[in-house]
Amino acid sequence: AKAMGRNQAQFYSRHFHDQVESRIRIEQDLKKALDQDQLVLFYQPQVDARSMALVGVEALIRWDHPDIGLIPPDEFIPVAEESDLIHELGQWVLDRACQQFSEWRQTSPKPFTFSIAANLSARQLKDTGLVDHLTQCLNRYQIPANQLELELTESSLESSLAALDMLKSLSSLGVNLALDDFGTGYSSLAHLKEYPFNILKIDKAFVQHIESEDQASLLKAICSFAHSLGYETVAEGIETAVHRDICADLGVKRLQGYFFSRPLPASELEARWIQSSPS
Ligand code: C2E
Ligand code: CA
Ligand code: CA
Ligand code: CA
Repeated sequence: AKAMGRNQAQFYSRHFHDQVESRIRIEQDLKKALDQDQLVLFYQPQVDARSMALVGVEALIRWDHPDIGLIPPDEFIPVAEESDLIHELGQWVLDRACQQFSEWRQTSPKPFTFSIAANLSARQLKDTGLVDHLTQCLNRYQIPANQLELELTESSLESSLAALDMLKSLSSLGVNLALDDFGTGYSSLAHLKEYPFNILKIDKAFVQHIESEDQASLLKAICSFAHSLGYETVAEGIETAVHRDICADLGVKRLQGYFFSRPLPASELEARWIQSSPS
């Protein structure tokens, strides 16, 4: 596939002047994409802030469109979320991520300790089949539940009691729950502990403007908040050695970002991070 670029990514908005028409067209094409296997997962490594060893991999979806090339998730996930497609798409993501993880597990030359993370849309918490589906994935691919992480954004805290129940059901399967983009929406901070999250994923906005003193204090405050409440932390958007060092000094457990690697196709992640990493 061609590299993903703004021009290609905005294919739909350029070709369909009417926003509604564009959305409907994406939705139709996305349905086809699910049936015709055009969706792919890329994988971005997460390293331990102390040992720099691989400790996690986040699965990030792309659409390998036959005419356009790779389309980033921000261009089509919102459309899927507005229709019921998000459920099918979300189930596909879980299934594919678990399948890939189990393949790596079987081919890895050394003990397999890292975890795999998948993103879940808040709307998927309303999918009554989610727990069953996840259980099937774990069983089918023989994945220990504690090596799977589900990432949800803060919008899933704002939703209903049903969503809270669903999070509790997921948590009781033994999977880890990470609150993604942490710090970007403060609305439910007071209720955070009522939710079964055990990992906070600090949004890249806090890491990336670290040269600003205010921003640096904010990152520090967020880390001490998270750690004092007993959360494990992951920082995303690590682009430089400075970002890496500051986050490591603040006690962030796991680091993720372009400094270590961009999201990679499965085969590349395997070659660069699984087969070749020192034991
Ligand atoms: P996210 O979950 O917050 O993912 C992090 C995004 O930051 C990814 O963009 C990743 O490629 C990018 N990133 C990683 N390291 C760096 C860095 O060092 N600097 C910068 N500037 N960016 C970095 P991506 O892959 O385009 O995904 C965008 C969003 O789409 C994700 O944000 C997530 O909300 C959503 N998404 C991706 N895959 C899925 C999925 O399977 N299901 C759902 N529901 N949403 C997904
Ligand atoms: Ca994420
Ligand atoms: Ca994030
Ligand atoms: Ca995000």
